[in-house]
Amino acid sequence: MADNSSNPFENAKKQLKAATDLLQIGKKQLDELSQPKRELTDDIPVRMDDGSTQTFNSFRIQHNDALGPFKGGIRFGPEVSMDEVKALAMWMTWKTSLAGLPFGGAKGGIICNPKNFSMAELERLSRGYVQQYVDYLGPDKDIPAPDMHTNAKVMAWMLDEYEKLTGHHAPGTFTGKPVELGGIASREPATGYGGFVAVQETAKLLKITPKTATSAIQGFGNVGQYAAKFLSGAGYKIIALSDSQGAIYSRKGISPEDAIKCKTEKGTLAQCRAAEGAKAAIITNEELLELDVDILIPAALENQITAGNAGRINAKAVVDLANGPTTPEADAVLKQKKIRVVPDVLANSGGVIASYFEWVQNNYGYYWTDKEVFSRLSGMISGAFAKTLQKAKEHDTDMRTGAYLLAVSRVAKAISLRGGA
Ligand code: GLU
Repeated sequence: MADNSSNPFENAKKQLKAATDLLQIGKKQLDELSQPKRELTDDIPVRMDDGSTQTFNSFRIQHNDALGPFKGGIRFGPEVSMDEVKALAMWMTWKTSLAGLPFGGAKGGIICNPKNFSMAELERLSRGYVQQYVDYLGPDKDIPAPDMHTNAKVMAWMLDEYEKLTGHHAPGTFTGKPVELGGIASREPATGYGGFVAVQETAKLLKITPKTATSAIQGFGNVGQYAAKFLSGAGYKIIALSDSQGAIYSRKGISPEDAIKCKTEKGTLAQCRAAEGAKAAIITNEELLELDVDILIPAALENQITAGNAGRINAKAVVDLANGPTTPEADAVLKQKKIRVVPDVLANSGGVIASYFEWVQNNYGYYWTDKEVFSRLSGMISGAFAKTLQKAKEHDTDMRTGAYLLAVSRVAKAISLRGGA
């Protein structure tokens, strides 16, 4: 039998199946929820700076829109694949449902290496994406946002292209935009902030206090960096941090601000620490995951905690800040070891919750203060955390299954109210 354990879409379906077995929903509904409603894929031709034209394979996967317009980010990267984007789209459906948002789930991607692009090439690629999918996007159809290797600048180009092609202003078509184009300042730190709130709830549950708690964070992109800043600001000791090239580790604790400064100057975390002879040790990403730590935060890619290393995880809790970092096989091992796992669809939902606030404000043309955004965000994550925990207890199961039970049943109800399966 083929080994599907690292295929994110197969893993997403396994997670869904585990929850629907408990929910006892019909086969027709399970079939509908197991597949995206629409799979769009197209090659984007881009004129490169040297005058040549290159084409890049792209996707927009719309998983489900029973609760509202499709919603989810667009990622750029060499490893992007159809099955990855399908999994990410399904996870968006559960994430928006669990948070109680009036959205469905979608995701987009372009297979490319953005690091090799000039700004002008990146702009043409971003505009090209919108030209391919313009008919399927809109504030009441499908609302993209940033994801890995995309940011506010990319959203600005995409929004501008969309408004040019459709001939009207529609800022609610994209979230994570620059503030001047209708974005909200708190969108950028929102996923990391939401993760921080989830860690605080986890600490309460484990009866550990920030002053004595240690944490290790894998991944130093937008999410990892902001999570590290908020955690260290609240007094948590961060003993390890990593980027794709390696990790730095110090029992005394690492200042995220110093690490960000170092990385900006030298390019990679490991390189800058080694060059300066700093006190931190250089370890691998794999070693970081196996550290003796209270809270382990995978904030990079899918499939980081797997059947292969779950037995060696030493944390008291794993808080999934990436999408899909912990596989179903790993979940089973962690459960046996009594390691609490806070699932991605809960822990990293801060980004899409802030996106929802941005969309609401675009629809109203009325803007809130950042303070208001953070306090509403925090209340929503804490509320979803409590409900998830309660559901997990009711069914004597783990928090991922608890989150799926809540999220899937809300979507299933909406489908049947619409007269569907
Ligand atoms: N890309 C983010 C995620 O995976 C945010 C999506 C959004 O804001 O729509 O949750």
